[in-house]
Amino acid sequence: MINIINAKLANGDVVDVQINGELITKVSPAAGTKIKEAIDATGKMLLPGLVDLHTHLREPGQEDAETVLTGSKSAAAGGFTAISSMANTNPVADTAGVVEQIYRLGKAAGLCDVNPIGAVTKGLDGEKLSEIGAMADSIAKVRIFSDDGKCVSDPLIMRRALEYVKTFNGIIAQHAQEPRLTVDAQMNEGSVSARIGLKGWPAIAEEAIIARDILLAEHVQSRLHICHVTTAGGVDLIRWAKARGIQVTAEVTPHHLLLTDDLVENYDPIYKVNPPLRTQKDVMALREGLAEGIIDIVATDHAPHPTEDKDCEWHSAAFGMVGLETALSVVVKTMIESKLMSWSDLVNRMSIKPAQIAGYQQQGQEIAANQPANLILIDPSATWQVNPKSLRSKSKNTPFGGMQLPTTVIDVFYNGKR
Ligand SMILES: [Zn+2]
Repeated sequence: MINIINAKLANGDVVDVQINGELITKVSPAAGTKIKEAIDATGKMLLPGLVDLHTHLREPGQEDAETVLTGSKSAAAGGFTAISSMANTNPVADTAGVVEQIYRLGKAAGLCDVNPIGAVTKGLDGEKLSEIGAMADSIAKVRIFSDDGKCVSDPLIMRRALEYVKTFNGIIAQHAQEPRLTVDAQMNEGSVSARIGLKGWPAIAEEAIIARDILLAEHVQSRLHICHVTTAGGVDLIRWAKARGIQVTAEVTPHHLLLTDDLVENYDPIYKVNPPLRTQKDVMALREGLAEGIIDIVATDHAPHPTEDKDCEWHSAAFGMVGLETALSVVVKTMIESKLMSWSDLVNRMSIKPAQIAGYQQQGQEIAANQPANLILIDPSATWQVNPKSLRSKSKNTPFGGMQLPTTVIDVFYNGKR
């Protein structure tokens, strides 16, 4: 049995919480009495564990960058009790066998739920549908399918995938990047790319796919999720789709809520990411879209790469940033310190809503008796300096190194275990 006393919830209530086995057994207004061996949470906040729908764990195939175990450690350190591993591993997670392997590795690590995402197409080739049904029926019960890293650019394949997952209330998560408009693209297309001479990645390459796919989702009455929205125009399209009743949800990454394309000026590949960092105007639109709920959730797009793939010349560097351990702090900095969102909003965007979209029933629940004890204790008034070397992730490619960020994760309770 675990007792937590004087914990503040996102709604401001201060409570005592009892955990027994895998469940929360009691939540009552703080009695102010000391309980022997209780965790004294005075000044701290107790929130539902965070849920990430976009995590690259690199296993199988690129274990030098990350493994299911090291990714789980990184997730727990960042306050996540559930993550979703993207399918672009080697071999690709396009069969029941591979998703079951990842699912079992997640169980063996035992630090958070690891829910595999299945590939939409075989080998991410964009041409033939993967074994979607077999992955959905497997022990991993896959519900999210994505070719992330690549766009499902063929509209007929996208249509078929949307139709297929509809039969079991699955969802297609699209990496919106029109490939013909982004050949060799390196960074956001705009004044910075023109000045420093890197090939530009136009906003329309993302928006053209978002527009097409929301129309496809409407046409086949299926569920579409847009990964990592980065442009103001993308937010407008999703706003339009939601007003029309189309079943579309969307995510934004912490790095796109904070960083802009002018950081690329010194050609430091730490800022090389897909989709690219955009302009301040886009950043403000993303923040407003998230506050408004047009963008439903925050997702990390945690993309670990070994040092040699990032610590090199811009053109040969890999796209991607790690994000699990900084996500909460960056969202607090960009959304709560700016007063755009409340703590309840943050819990909604980082726990409740992602769990609902993915159907993770043990996650994102209210802090109440008989609910699964997937909880985190945070110190909202603490600050910390990001030291890449101290990250639990096997890879250290964070763009936030040296930055002073608000809020620390003190404790994680995963299925009742501390
Ligand atoms: Zn992506």
